[in-house]
Amino acid sequence: MATALAQLRRAVDQLKLSENDWNTLSTPRRILEVAVPLRRDDGRVEMYKGYRVQYSTTRGPSKGGVRFHQDINLEETVALAMLMTWKCALTNLPYGGAKGGVAVDAHTLSLTENERLTRRYTSEILPIIGPERDIPAPDVGTDERNMAWMMDTYSVNAGFAVPSVVTGKPIVLGGSLGRASATGDGVAISTREALKVRGINPQGATVAIQGFGKVGYWAAIALEAMGLKVVAVSDVNGGVTGFKSVEEVFEYSKKNGTIIGAPGTDRLTNEELLHLGVDVLIPAALADSITEATASGVKARIVVEGANAPTTPEGDAILNNKGILVVPDILANSGGVIVSYFEWVQDKQNYFWGAEEVRENLNKILMRAIVEVEDMAKSKKVTWREAAHMLGVSRVAEAHSLRGLYP
Ligand code: NAD
Repeated sequence: MATALAQLRRAVDQLKLSENDWNTLSTPRRILEVAVPLRRDDGRVEMYKGYRVQYSTTRGPSKGGVRFHQDINLEETVALAMLMTWKCALTNLPYGGAKGGVAVDAHTLSLTENERLTRRYTSEILPIIGPERDIPAPDVGTDERNMAWMMDTYSVNAGFAVPSVVTGKPIVLGGSLGRASATGDGVAISTREALKVRGINPQGATVAIQGFGKVGYWAAIALEAMGLKVVAVSDVNGGVTGFKSVEEVFEYSKKNGTIIGAPGTDRLTNEELLHLGVDVLIPAALADSITEATASGVKARIVVEGANAPTTPEGDAILNNKGILVVPDILANSGGVIVSYFEWVQDKQNYFWGAEEVRENLNKILMRAIVEVEDMAKSKKVTWREAAHMLGVSRVAEAHSLRGLYP
């Protein structure tokens, strides 16, 4: 939270906003903490903490992922909901920002336990979510199955099907083509543009990716399709290098639950992966992986933040001093929320787009944000992170000011 607040303070100062603006922008609008009881398959009943934070609803309904991870807490959830607010404003989506989750290790849940936990969590936050209020989506530890259960739980209570209450759903339930790969596709588009800025030919440019989940895997696939060479990937158990194709590693990890041991690969620690001599480093796991301790060893020329908040302020300062171009999270991983927006629009209109239309519109919206960030960074002589925050924060501040203060 300290990092998110420091980034906001800097943007407020750089934009010369008032103390009133700071007070408004630095305060989350609605916080719900819930107890989520779970009956385990063996009959034991356990209690888990759940959260839903609606950081802002000024520019539209709030929007943000649901995380199932043992380490989540209220403070981090507020910080992530704040980041979602600037991300939606930066990409000009008509949303505020939200985040939620349950402090549980999703790996310890059977399928039936996962379903019961998801449904009970949904039921506990039901009064504050809805297509016009707050629209959850998948994040770490959740996927389209969880979204199907959330959609069903909400719909059963409403008495009719409400697909637009969540995004990231299976296609047959009103999901959008291109949503599964959207965040990774956006990471790849951001990488392509950053390579242009640095004058590096994408053909054969090398990439290392930390995190091989929904973001890391799809980013790797999209980057390979653009002609880059993914030389290393990692998951929570460590990294591997030496593979022929990302798909091979993926097939192995589907069967074995980890990438470690994939045929023909050599092992790396997560730290070794961060320090590889590659053109592009993509942290796509959890927060705080590029820190004061790890940043000085980074040799990549470009860092593209697939994860949310993967770089601490100290780590960021070191990367900047080394002249590394950092494409910040709220820009680099915004492909997910952009296509979530398309999914919501399609659900509300009951009219579904083809894959090409999704791809073209994602590229259009993300490219507009990238160009705006690049221009702002140049004209104000600030980093891409500062420029992205200035753009996002200024739009929310302007919306606040135009709506006025009630009463
Ligand atoms: P996921 O659960 O699908 O995958 C997370 C991956 O990170 C897994 O491969 C896991 O093994 C790995 N991991 C966990 N701890 C690690 C560690 N210490 N070192 C290396 N790898 C580790 O989650 P995801 O949806 O891919 O999300 C990853 C990040 O991207 C998160 O910060 C999330 O908030 C952010 N994000 C996700 C989306 C989305 O659409 N899913 C959108 C925007 C941002």
